[in-house]
Amino acid sequence: MAQQNNNSLPPSSEGRRSSTLAPQSNNKDESSKKTTIGKIVVDRDACIGAGSCTALAPGTFALDNEGKAIVINVNGDNDKNIIDAAMSCPVLAIKVYDVDGNQIYPK
Ligand code: SF4
Repeated sequence: MAQQNNNSLPPSSEGRRSSTLAPQSNNKDESSKKTTIGKIVVDRDACIGAGSCTALAPGTFALDNEGKAIVINVNGDNDKNIIDAAMSCPVLAIKVYDVDGNQIYPK
């Protein structure tokens, strides 16, 4: 059964972080923990709607009205949770890229 997604964001299987944002903090400890994920792609043909990605990274993934995963916000969760979500996908439908465009999961 398809789940209803009332999110107002347009459906997308791909999320991208803006590379034009200025650094958020001058704190050296914070900058040393810089985010490495720049783009997330969901293969909607492969997605079976298992939903584990939405459970582990609910700020990043959601199921659309077809019951398939979409990226709602690349900045929605920390990198570890996003990678964990990608690793949880039973069909390897989630690809994660760093800010330079290099695929970091699956390797
Ligand atoms: S874990 Fe994989 S199969 Fe399940 S909803 Fe997310 S992308 Fe689709």
